[in-house]
Amino acid sequence: SKQLMMALLVLENFIGGKFVPCSSYIDSYNPSTGDIYCRVPDSGKEEVEAAVKAAKDAFPIWSSKSPLERSQILNKLADLIEHDLEAFAQAESKDQGKTITFARTVDIPRAVYNFRFFASSILHHVTECTEMATMGCVHYTSRAPVGVAGLISPWNLPLYLLTWKIAPAIACGNTVVAKPSEMTSVTAWMMCRLLEKAGLPHGVVNVVFGTGAKAGEALVCHPDVPLISFTGSTLTATRITEKSAPHCKRLSLELGGKNPAIIFDDADLNQCIPTTLRSSFANQGEICLCTSRIFVQRGIYSEFLKKFVAEARKWKTGNPSDPTVDVGALISKEHLEKVRNYVKRARAEGARILCGEGVDSLSLPPGNQKGYFMLPTVIAEVKDESCCMQEEIFGPVTCVVAFDTEDEVIKRANGVKYGLAATVWSSNVGRVHRVAHRLHSGLVWTNCWLVRDLNLPFGGMKASGIGREGAKDSYEFFTEVKTITIKH
Ligand code: NAD
Repeated sequence: SKQLMMALLVLENFIGGKFVPCSSYIDSYNPSTGDIYCRVPDSGKEEVEAAVKAAKDAFPIWSSKSPLERSQILNKLADLIEHDLEAFAQAESKDQGKTITFARTVDIPRAVYNFRFFASSILHHVTECTEMATMGCVHYTSRAPVGVAGLISPWNLPLYLLTWKIAPAIACGNTVVAKPSEMTSVTAWMMCRLLEKAGLPHGVVNVVFGTGAKAGEALVCHPDVPLISFTGSTLTATRITEKSAPHCKRLSLELGGKNPAIIFDDADLNQCIPTTLRSSFANQGEICLCTSRIFVQRGIYSEFLKKFVAEARKWKTGNPSDPTVDVGALISKEHLEKVRNYVKRARAEGARILCGEGVDSLSLPPGNQKGYFMLPTVIAEVKDESCCMQEEIFGPVTCVVAFDTEDEVIKRANGVKYGLAATVWSSNVGRVHRVAHRLHSGLVWTNCWLVRDLNLPFGGMKASGIGREGAKDSYEFFTEVKTITIKH
């Protein structure tokens, strides 16, 4: 076992520009083999304290740099990550279980783009000014960075979502203590190795690795961290809200979803079916924006279902590092069990499982027999009240049900506690606008999915979150505004 330990990748915290070992570690698994392959620092109060101190010390220098100076460093960092894109993609795929294709084409390119995007957008913000001639006054607003930002991210899109927070936070002149998910820490650690080369002063970005309960909570409770940006589950968000309340912290919460796709009988199925397959099963269904309730208008219901199931069966599940594979491994054994249980419960309630789990057999290469795999699964004839139609499953499982009228489907689509993203399929422009306006959802995609312009707000309604992120929204979140009045 000593030999095994030596072969393991051992991560270290990154504090004040230096890698520092931790006194205890957590095991991290390779989801596609079930083997422990990495040890992640099990940080707590002490490590968080050191990281917050480093971030506080770095704040005066970093916050006084011009937006252009910060922008140049962000661009340099983007170039460095892009230069190592393949290594980052391999690491993300191994650590998370996602397919190498997804990591290469989505995760890492987006992490690069996050830095480039905020490097550019920080140069283009203007503040407000009003004149009150009768009083002889002008009013204007000025914006300043807040201080040390606490950034907490989930395991599904590890570097993608972490950099979506780090980039705007530091572009605005804040310094950062970040805590990635304990299950997917490797790419954040790899990024730390590039920060100095990019010209980032020591202490501007600090990363503490560890669990939510220990490291995450220490960050949330730290009195010198006035702002927390969190992406993760709704349950964790309520805990963070509670714990941060005594300090009146500013919170941005990007949470779960139970996203509907509404497919009217005039939809172009040639576009709708492949896109709805992607929106259901991309990244093993482990994206907060994934579709998991598909409402199909009665007239095309059977045709849709037949074609959709036939296409779902073509999605190849297996070794994530095989570029021909579409569905990789789920994040953990526990999560796989949880997702499977939803399918079991649906079956017990009398729903029909049309393909995937329990219906088709999964054959895996010899090296992946102990991995956390599951076939894309389609459930039909499931009641709206069923847990499969109400709770976030976060796996390759989607429910398909029929509807008759526009009013009915809007009511049903809105009938969950979440409100993150919805898709609407129709060739009737009037209907598309009408439906989009009535959906309780922070994002509505019509005749497409996951097309994002980072300039515009991203975030959820209801239990899907508080606050929005995007060019202007992130700028507002990561800065403190002041209104100044001058009388002449
Ligand atoms: P999670 O809430 O379990 O964990 C998210 C992060 O919070 C992790 O880093 C974790 O260590 C940390 N954490 C856990 N408990 C904490 C505590 N008490 N105090 C501080 N930090 C704590 O979520 P997850 O399972 O990693 O991610 C999946 C969830 O994230 C899903 O619900 C998904 O919908 C959601 N998500 C939302 C978005 C979005 O933008 N809306 C994007 C991706 C994922």
